[in-house]
Amino acid sequence: MAHIDAGKTTTTERILYYTGRSDNIGEVHEGEATMDWMEQERERGITITSAATTAFWNGHRINIVDTPGHVDFTLEVERSLRVLDGAVAVFDGVAGVEPQTETVWRQANKYNVPRICFVNKMDRDGADFYKDVQMMKKQLGCNPVPIQLPIGQGKTFAGVYDLVSEKSVTWLGDKLGAEFEVKDEIPDGMADVIAEYRESLIETAVEMDEQALEAYLESGEPPSVDVLKKCIRKGTLGFDFVPVLCGTAFKNKGVQPLLDAVVDYLPSPTDLEDTRGKDPKDPDQVVFRKNVADEKFSGLAFKVAADPFIGTLTFLRIYSGSIQSGDTMINPRTKQKERFGRMVLMHANKREEIKSASAGDIIAIVGLKDTTTGDTLCDMKDQIVLERMDFPEPVIKVACEPLTTKDNDKMMESLAKLAAEDPSFRYSRDEESNQTVIEGMGELHLDIIVDRLKREFKVDCSVGAPQVAYRETITKPIENWYTHKKQSGGSGQYAKIKVSYEPNEGQGYEFVNETTGAIIPREFIPGILR
Ligand code: GDP
Repeated sequence: MAHIDAGKTTTTERILYYTGRSDNIGEVHEGEATMDWMEQERERGITITSAATTAFWNGHRINIVDTPGHVDFTLEVERSLRVLDGAVAVFDGVAGVEPQTETVWRQANKYNVPRICFVNKMDRDGADFYKDVQMMKKQLGCNPVPIQLPIGQGKTFAGVYDLVSEKSVTWLGDKLGAEFEVKDEIPDGMADVIAEYRESLIETAVEMDEQALEAYLESGEPPSVDVLKKCIRKGTLGFDFVPVLCGTAFKNKGVQPLLDAVVDYLPSPTDLEDTRGKDPKDPDQVVFRKNVADEKFSGLAFKVAADPFIGTLTFLRIYSGSIQSGDTMINPRTKQKERFGRMVLMHANKREEIKSASAGDIIAIVGLKDTTTGDTLCDMKDQIVLERMDFPEPVIKVACEPLTTKDNDKMMESLAKLAAEDPSFRYSRDEESNQTVIEGMGELHLDIIVDRLKREFKVDCSVGAPQVAYRETITKPIENWYTHKKQSGGSGQYAKIKVSYEPNEGQGYEFVNETTGAIIPREFIPGILR
């Protein structure tokens, strides 16, 4: 997860290369990244959908969901974080913490997702690892603990010093697949800074484990590498601190140690507490499922996507139990049975048909009848409804018309399909003006919808401002408006203020406090609405 352009896609590409699943690395600027499979993503050089891919590292299986950083796709991030067990926050070494980093960080807090930080782009002029760590502390309010230090910064960036194993790791060249050298030596001129950061790492880490703390205080001797790793893992999973690493994905430095850290410090499904849900027959009744294969089946659908080759894919995070292809489960919302006819694992560049899957897996199921994002699929006899994720409300709308009226029905059918895939996209027919209005999270989001209408559904449409002088009223959670009230001399109490927004040609939208008529300054509007 990250702000747009920090390097998520590039880092993910490298991960897929090093884990051996992808042979060709698609450079993002050449527009052929293997994770970004949708045509629009390729052309626009951004990541829109979170493709879920599976990779293997040191005997561990890692499911990767590459999340978009663009503000228009906050919903994609939200649903990814809902099903992820851990996250790697990627930073641009020069820019550090950026606005969208703060948004995704808050979302990860909301879903209790443990994190590690990867300061990417250390090869760029002006990259400053130490400044970035300070920014994390100040702007994200977390406790960042470097477990590596950069050897050189900007043009001189050569590798990392591992504060846990006390080894320097330098890459011989910056070509893809470049070898690295591991040495016991302290790099020139780094003795003081290494001593300072290692001491601080050890002191923070041993606090996590009574035995380790006691041993350290008594002997004054640093803990062994294994004990130190165990303490770092505890601190990460317990949200006491966030390990920080660095590198440059683009120049192929630092990715392998990042993968090691994912395995060492991020949770495996078995580290998680039992999954909570509700009994569909008695919604007041909380029920639990153990995150193991030998348990009643439950899974959460977190994404529905139309795959141009095999049809509708429903991505499912399995929380408990196991499933064989051909099994039938129930969707408690629709009370419909769903048959798991074909199940696939998505790799970077291919799909693998699988016959069975179990707790902890992320799979895609082909051709489910009526399961949408947020639905639970579970065992028929022992039903459970897992907590849904939050869907932000759409914030902009435009009128959308087919170029020829004979395409009208086709457009409505296609819009229905797109809306079923994407809970933050809506459409409606305005009888008065006889226009179709589409709503989404931002201009880019709606641009892409119109693009998909043309490419996938072969309906050419034009968009424009809706003819009706509409005035949409939205009410948002009160905290969002609190700052504004206080600033403008209000009582300082939480209050529900009705806010309306109006199209203001060329300048985006103006937000008006409906009670006072005052225009609300943009900086007080939550990012998602801005
Ligand atoms: P995303 O939006 O977070 O997925 O970022 P991308 O992976 O698409 O990267 C954005 C841009 O930054 C692309 O042009 C990449 O080639 C470039 N980039 C990614 N990682 C690095 C890096 O380590 N160093 C430099 N100099 N550029 C990078």
